[in-house]
Amino acid sequence: MVRWPLLLASLLYLLVAASACAPPALGAVETPDALTPTPTATGTATAKPTVTPPPPTATPPPPTPTATLLPTQTPSPTPLPPLIAIDPGHGGRDLGAVRVHSDGSLAFTESDVNLAIALRVRDALEDRGYRVLLTRDGDYGLNPEDLDVNGDGAVDHLDDLQARIDMVNDAGADILISIHQNSFVWPNGRRAPDVGGTVTFYNAYREFADHNKRLARYIQQELVAAITELGHDVQDRGVQVDHQLESDPEGGRFLIVLGPESARTARASQMPGVLSETLFLTHDIEAELLQDPQALDAMAEAYARAVELYFQNEATP
Ligand SMILES: [Zn+2]
Repeated sequence: MVRWPLLLASLLYLLVAASACAPPALGAVETPDALTPTPTATGTATAKPTVTPPPPTATPPPPTPTATLLPTQTPSPTPLPPLIAIDPGHGGRDLGAVRVHSDGSLAFTESDVNLAIALRVRDALEDRGYRVLLTRDGDYGLNPEDLDVNGDGAVDHLDDLQARIDMVNDAGADILISIHQNSFVWPNGRRAPDVGGTVTFYNAYREFADHNKRLARYIQQELVAAITELGHDVQDRGVQVDHQLESDPEGGRFLIVLGPESARTARASQMPGVLSETLFLTHDIEAELLQDPQALDAMAEAYARAVELYFQNEATP
């Protein structure tokens, strides 16, 4: 009975002595504050419970952020981002449609407008991480040496178009967007300053017809929205199959850059594609928009958004 208090006292003494030992140990940890690695080493020797906190705090910051970023990024670069072929229609000797002043002098050409839009679309797509192939990046044609590119025995505009198709096929482009501007004059030659609108053509008979149509819809939707946003009540002419072109003098055949192989096309484009007629350069308001750099920027963004929508919803044709 008498020994218990003694035992307790000695136990208490031991506890006090032990806790008295703690301060120097703590003091030792505090002093080398500047040298973070050393305290952890000495800490392990003094008391294990006090050591456990530092390692966890030390481990998370350096590795976790960099470690998680690297694995998630490595898989995506492995498959290259989609390659988008942008084809600014016409160029060089081929002016495409032209807008003339009331005195008959040339105001601007379709080929220049197509290029101005295409260069902006390239920038907008590259900003979004896509790879871009332009069939031309200046004012030139694709068949400068006047070769019979399609081997049909004649040298004409079909060879220029065949050269564009060959270029996008050789590059392995994932989709093709050919950019053009519309025009309209009355058969008697009178100007039609209020005939305008946006239309996107696609081929409904190729094996990737569903993709053609989907891409056409996104482009049409985004362009009409963007042009309306610019304050122009643009006529939405919708998406149209390319063989219904009434303007085709030979009865509405497939558009060369979109269609299958034929007597006019030695090698067909091998990827989903559309031909977009952004606006009518014979329409007074639309001609102004096509000369307005900010409006062209907005149209280019619309094309880029459409491409983005196309690839985001690839699984749902
Ligand atoms: Zn054209």
